[in-house]
Amino acid sequence: MRLHLADHPLVDHKLTALRNRDTDSPTFRRLVDELVTLLAYEATRDVRVEPYEIHTPVAPARGVRLSDPKPLVVPILRAGLGMLDGMVRLLPTAEVGFLGMARNEETLEAVTYANRLPEDLSGRQVYLLDPMLATGGTLAAAIRYLVERGAARITAICLLASPEGLAHLEQVLTGSETLGAPITLVTAAVDERLNERGYIVPGLGDAGDRLYGVV
Ligand code: URA
Repeated sequence: MRLHLADHPLVDHKLTALRNRDTDSPTFRRLVDELVTLLAYEATRDVRVEPYEIHTPVAPARGVRLSDPKPLVVPILRAGLGMLDGMVRLLPTAEVGFLGMARNEETLEAVTYANRLPEDLSGRQVYLLDPMLATGGTLAAAIRYLVERGAARITAICLLASPEGLAHLEQVLTGSETLGAPITLVTAAVDERLNERGYIVPGLGDAGDRLYGVV
């Protein structure tokens, strides 16, 4: 797995405001949206394009356009939904699939409760959205699910990651022959640790609750 840490003062600035417990839900949502667009810029460096000939008002020119099949964007419900608009702003022609996963708060294991994805993902480039890479269980399960359906390349975009989650993901992905598909993780920061309740420290709290105003 390749880890890309977005190193940019605007990313740090927005992340600091997200971490602040005094930031209200509407501001939190807007900041997530803006931060995802910055992360998406990094995450789409390897988006597949093909040569494309056009005419400017002055002369013929060679450029590029997104190749078919178009990328698939998959937010992991519920908190990943808050990242969708920021992502499709950069990739408006992408298709969108949904994966509903929750963690059992006792075992911290990922459980899939909904899925709305194409059956066959052969050759597809997939952008997986999940704000918090905590234990890594959810993301590992989601990646396995996508790879088993043929995804050719997966880029996960997380606002924050924990060292434990990264290690878990690395171990799971190395242990299975993940199965040939290159995996990249793009994140704004890797924090100190997980606490005993599986929250990232210092983190930003429960991303879903902060996005949707549940306390
Ligand atoms: N999920 C969250 O929303 N926050 C955490 O810190 C960990 C998992």
